[in-house]
Amino acid sequence: MRTNDEERHPARDRELGMDRAISRRDFLNGVAIGAAGIVASPWLAGLDAQTAARFAQDAPGYYPPALTGMRGSHDGSYDVSHALRDPKFWASAGQPAATGERYDLVVVGGGISGLAAAYFYRARVGPNARILILDNHDDFGGHAKRNEFRPGGTLWIANGGTAGISSPFPYSKEALGLMSAIGIEPTKLASAANAAADRSVFQGLQSAYFFDKETFGSDRLVVGSPGGGRGRGAAPTMSWEDFLARTPLSPQAQKDIARLETAKVDYLPGLSSPEKKDRLSRMSYKDFLLNVVKVSPDVIPFYQSRTHGLYGIGIDAVGALECWGYRYPGFEGLNLDPIANGRMSFTAKGDATPKPSYNFHFPDGNASVARLLVRALIPDALPGSTAEDSVLAKADYAKLDRTSTNVRIRLSSTAVRVKHTGAPATSDVEVVYGREKKLYAVRSKGVVLACWNMMIPFLCPDLPGKQQEALKYGVKVPLVYTSVALRNWKAFKALGINGATSPGMYHTGARLEVPTVIGGYNPTPKSADDSILVRMTRTPCKPGLPSRDQHRAGHADLLTTTFATFELKIRDQLARILSAGGFDPARDIDAITVNRWPHGYAYEYNPLWDPDWPQGQSPCEIGRKPFGRIAIANSDAAAAAYTDQAIDQAYRAVGELIAAKAT
Ligand SMILES: Cc1cc2nc3c(=O)[nH]c(=O)nc-3n(C[C@H](O)[C@H](O)[C@H](O)COP(=O)(O)OP(=O)(O)OC[C@H]3O[C@@H](n4cnc5c(N)ncnc54)[C@H](O)[C@@H]3O)c2cc1C
Repeated sequence: MRTNDEERHPARDRELGMDRAISRRDFLNGVAIGAAGIVASPWLAGLDAQTAARFAQDAPGYYPPALTGMRGSHDGSYDVSHALRDPKFWASAGQPAATGERYDLVVVGGGISGLAAAYFYRARVGPNARILILDNHDDFGGHAKRNEFRPGGTLWIANGGTAGISSPFPYSKEALGLMSAIGIEPTKLASAANAAADRSVFQGLQSAYFFDKETFGSDRLVVGSPGGGRGRGAAPTMSWEDFLARTPLSPQAQKDIARLETAKVDYLPGLSSPEKKDRLSRMSYKDFLLNVVKVSPDVIPFYQSRTHGLYGIGIDAVGALECWGYRYPGFEGLNLDPIANGRMSFTAKGDATPKPSYNFHFPDGNASVARLLVRALIPDALPGSTAEDSVLAKADYAKLDRTSTNVRIRLSSTAVRVKHTGAPATSDVEVVYGREKKLYAVRSKGVVLACWNMMIPFLCPDLPGKQQEALKYGVKVPLVYTSVALRNWKAFKALGINGATSPGMYHTGARLEVPTVIGGYNPTPKSADDSILVRMTRTPCKPGLPSRDQHRAGHADLLTTTFATFELKIRDQLARILSAGGFDPARDIDAITVNRWPHGYAYEYNPLWDPDWPQGQSPCEIGRKPFGRIAIANSDAAAAAYTDQAIDQAYRAVGELIAAKAT
């Protein structure tokens, strides 16, 4: 088995607490992961008892949000789909067993798009519509996942993926209508949560940067935010000169960063605003800094990972015009008119265009959207009646897949074949899925594929070749959202920081969770002696390659990295950032959850690497065409990684199915 593991040092391991019991470490991981990702999948080989337990959604105590360790695309969730890539899959898998079920609609994918498709279909066809939703994970929601922790007995809830209700553009009428129908009014919820929150315990804490020795020559924490907390609109706490003087950056790099951040220079004199924008759209931000602003190469590591959170890649592969959209430094003197141009990504285009905005973050992020959709579809599965009361409501997984309800959600079930039983315009569709080492077949009048685009050619080899090619084009963006439950945060308090950006490290940042107070959920600590969550993000990529190749390298990285390696990196990173404040990773860490998303954000077209397709000719538009009684949803179908896009695509797909009379 090939893994990404590093050489281990027993003494350092002990110091970091690798031998300490944390709430629950995912012992399964590391055995199957490497094998599944790289060699033949173990799916056909045999199922160990712990993995089998994951499939038992009806078993007493089944409650995936409380699992810690490796989550997101967890062990066991992708064995079937990876096995399907093997041409010998069908020869060794045998014939599926017919369950005898016939549905009006089968939805492949239980993310927000799939749940929304079920919602829209039922709204159009009526409450008697029989719907089955299949998802390969042990929990519903797709990227919108809930994580729970109980450090020191206090319930902390976190988003394992999809974080918030916000988008570069206002939500559509359909998406807002769905939100409202399930009880979510983002503006009202946001103002109530703000009014309820008392954040005084965090007052006075500043943001910080951590410079690591591997990237910057020495380990150094620099407290304070020159130019304001990054992206948070906070007031600057020091001048750039004061900040830079404390860093291990070279004198030339310090001078260049101060110039870049503060001087208003027209670096492209003699060009009109549209000409400048066109020029900026054809160079990376890294090239802009090096060749136009002419900074020293020593400056680059300071900015390299700044684009990771949005794009999953660094400034070497993101256009300078995109970075203008985000008000990165260097553009103020260029006098660009504040209107997005056509050669910008979906995300940057929206951000560069002024709009009315709303922004709400449930404690579990948009897992609440998924949970409220489940409540609308199967009311018994989530007690209560309001968005607020849903936050503390416990989902009953045993209610998800019952013969007594018209809508059923079947977890740990990976669709492997979706095929019309006769002529596509008039016949049923047979859906074959793998679960617990067996294949099963159900029938349906229509199917919405709300799964990932790249899976669809494997599921539907009958699709036209051009459509299959289009579906394979995008490469999903790998991301990791890590949560670390701490028994206390005295070290943060002692250092006077609420987190640190660490541009060169394994996770590019760590920050204290400030909880959203809603529906009786309020874990806000009274003092630094109380428990808390630390949130960290990682975006594996390979600078220097084209964007899609960087994402492919990131997939391989994530699928060959064991939880033990993540844990070691996390303990080491927090120790190095916080040890001057008295942090002891062996003593202070209560639990760790690594939400690993090798197939994270939908691939957005990147003007630096992708062609300017004419209207209607982009891969997502070609790929999402309906095929007989099969329609295609998911945020991949919009090539835009946003909840509103996932909902809009569900609405369109359901409309297409109904037009095809698959009702
Ligand atoms: C870490 C992270 C953070 C994000 N943050 C935000 C945010 O703050 N705001 C925002 O708007 N968006 C965010 N997004 C984007 C997010 O992808 C969308 O908002 C939305 O949740 C996507 O929903 P979806 O249903 O289209 O896809 P998904 O959530 O990916 O759901 C698709 C489901 O289909 C399943 N599936 C795939 N193949 C099969 C198969 N063969 N059989 C059965 N099931 C299958 C998948 O495993 C998955 O569970 C984030 C994404 C990630 C990864």
